[in-house]
Formats: sequence, structure tokens, C-alpha cells
Amino acid sequence: MLDEARMLDSADPLREYRARFDLPEGVIYLDGNSLGALPKATKTRVAEVVEQEWGEGLIRSWNAPEKGGADWINLPQRVGGKIAPLIGAKPHEVIACDSTSVNLSKLIAAALHMRPGRKVILSEPGNFPTDLYMIEGLEKQGLAEQGLASRDAIIEALDDDVALLLLTHVHYKTGAMFDMAAVTKAAQDAGAQVLWDLSHSGGAVEVDLTAANADFAVGCGYKYLNGGPGAPAYAYVAERHHGDLQQPLTGWMGHAQPFAFDDAYAPAPGVDRLLAGTPPILGLSALEVGVDLIAEIGMGPLVTKSRQLSEFFRKAVSERLPELELVSPTDPTQRGSQLSFRHAEAYAICQALIARGLIGDFRDPDVLRFGFAPAYVSFEDVALAIEALAEIIETGEWDKPEFKQRAAVT
Ligand SMILES: *Cc1c(COP(=O)(O)O)cnc(C)c1O
Repeated sequence: MLDEARMLDSADPLREYRARFDLPEGVIYLDGNSLGALPKATKTRVAEVVEQEWGEGLIRSWNAPEKGGADWINLPQRVGGKIAPLIGAKPHEVIACDSTSVNLSKLIAAALHMRPGRKVILSEPGNFPTDLYMIEGLEKQGLAEQGLASRDAIIEALDDDVALLLLTHVHYKTGAMFDMAAVTKAAQDAGAQVLWDLSHSGGAVEVDLTAANADFAVGCGYKYLNGGPGAPAYAYVAERHHGDLQQPLTGWMGHAQPFAFDDAYAPAPGVDRLLAGTPPILGLSALEVGVDLIAEIGMGPLVTKSRQLSEFFRKAVSERLPELELVSPTDPTQRGSQLSFRHAEAYAICQALIARGLIGDFRDPDVLRFGFAPAYVSFEDVALAIEALAEIIETGEWDKPEFKQRAAVT
């Protein structure tokens, strides 16, 4: 298997990109879907922003280069505009700001505003918790009502009360992917709008928000976009909604003229009004490097390699470790860049893997999850991971007290 993996690596058109990341020796990293790896260029860029733009430029750096600045003020739009082509959006439809959670809340509230008389935000049970919690939060304010329907019944659940369908495109736990265009059309035919959470999609799978006629989307900067821990997220609003867009966090940075210091709020045009407070420049600068690198590689080659990596892993597991039950779709075109397996001892197995330098993750109650970030994961990584997993399971290496103690962050 290792020989086959090495052959695939030598034929891999993306093989040179691994060296653009700072991956620690002796670690096989299959958790880029939780926290992407560090691009080497991020270290130099962040140092430059700190030392020159902040240290020397000080407050002047907010301004345009013509004024001797570093154009900090336009960083949310600039980074958003670079994320846009990765998700099939136009540059002025995307802005990088806040966290995914905060962007969800802003856009759910904005969508409710566009559908007076409808209060239900429909989602699926088992969606990523923050998506559901944000609906609940608005419900407690009396603004929304949460509706839940399982994914096979979600289309039938779209009645006249549903203002918005909020779904995660690639499910965080199973990797199952919705048909974005078909679901969007069904929701719109029922008079609702759709907000897609692209946290496990952006930078990993093909997304075409324009072709799908999507209304709204949010996504995460620190997973496949490699923006760094707690990186700013992004928000997308289709151009046709820009005029009607009203979000509740009407902070000064979303004002049409923040430096007029007016008493009354007047929204900035388009997605700019999604800004609330001062943009986090260090975080956005790091995110920009991650996004530039993904854009340089290109979504087409990334998607092709992602499918090859996960198929290599899936086939080897089904041959060697049939006791691991696949919970992800078997067809690589129906899933994200990850594979999840069920095993009663998933937690301990995951800890035993980590002790060997193989980082995947565990999701409650019994799921082992492996992410295949195609920009830096090699076929050799995948082959070594399978060897380690097989040894741990076959020898019962996981069955030690230290592997059963739960940590705060899994
Ligand atoms: C990772 C993830 C988030 C993250 O939200 P934060 O606000 O960055 O913590 C949101 N939604 C989904 C589906 C995710 O996978």
C-alpha cells in the first residue's frame, strides 16, 4: 500500500504545495477540517503587518497606499473578494468579518426581515450546534421560530410559515453534502430563502452559489482556508438582496460614512453593511495568505485530489478494517473532503492515534473523523494513517486508561 501511495504522490500535480505549509515532523495531519495547517508565508506576512504596518505605520496604515497607508480599512472587502471565486460568488457579494456564528445570526435576522409574516427558520436536527443555537437565540427574542425536519423530509416541511432554510452544505459529522441547487430551488419555490453554511465546503468542495441561485451563505476561515485559529469568517449575500439587506448589528463600521460620526445610522452599500466593529487586521492578514494559497492552487485540482485521497482511504479501510462502519456517503461526489466512521471505542482509538502523531478527530458519541485537506495531505500520509489505525485496532492498543480520559476540546 505504501508503494502505491508513493507512486500516487509522485504523479500528484499538487505535490509541491505541501512544502508551502509548516507541518511538524512526525505528524500526520488529518484534521485540517477543524483547524487548517499554517502556510509558511503567513509567518512572514503576519510579522510584516505587526512590525511595519502596525509598528511603523501606526494609525496611518488604515488609509490607502497613496496616503502612505496599508489599506487596512478595505481588508474585509479585499479578502471577501478573494474568497468569492472559490465559492462561485462575485467579489462584491462576499465580505470577511466576525465569526461564522455571528454572521449566521446577522443573516438569519436579515432574512426574517425580507419575509414579513413568516417566522420559521427551518433546519435539520444534528446540524452544527452553533447554527441551531443562533436560531434559538433569535427565538428567545421573539423574532423567530425554530423548525426542524430530517434531511429526507426537509423539502416537504417547507410550508407557508418558513422564512428561511438554514443548512450546512457539507455535514460536519458525516460529510454528507446537499445538492445545493436543487434544495435552493425547492425552498424558493415554497417562498422561502436559503442560508448555506459553507464551513466544511469553502476551499474543499466545488461550490457555485451563483449557479445555485443561493440567497445567503456563511463560512469559516480557519478550516480549509487555513486562516489560523479563530480566523475571521465570511458572509455572502446575493447581489439581488443588497438593497433590502437589514442586519441587526448596526455598528459604525457598517455605516455609509463611519468617519462622518453621525448620530443616525445609514447603512453602507451592499455587504459592507454586514460589518459591525473595527476589522481584526492581524487575523484578516493571516486569512488573506491562506486564501491566496488556495486560490493559487485552484478549486478544480483541489477537489480532484480530495476525492482521490478520501477514496484511497475509504477503500483501504473497507478491506482491512470492516469493523469501522462508514457513516459518510460512499460516492465521493456526494460528500465533503472527509470520512467518518462509527466505532464504539472511537474516543480511545482517536487518542491512541494522536499518541502516535496521527491527528484526526472524534465527534460525540462514537464517530472518528478524518479530514483530507488536499493542499498538503499526501497519499503517503493516508497509507501511514491506515497502517496505524489497523495496528491500534488489531492489537487493542487503544484499551488504556489514559486514552479514555476526555479533554475539554475534542
Ligand atoms: C466550524 C463550524 C462553524 C464555526 O463557527 P465559529 O463561529 O467559527 O465557531 C460553524 N458552522 C459549521 C457548520 C462549522 O463546521
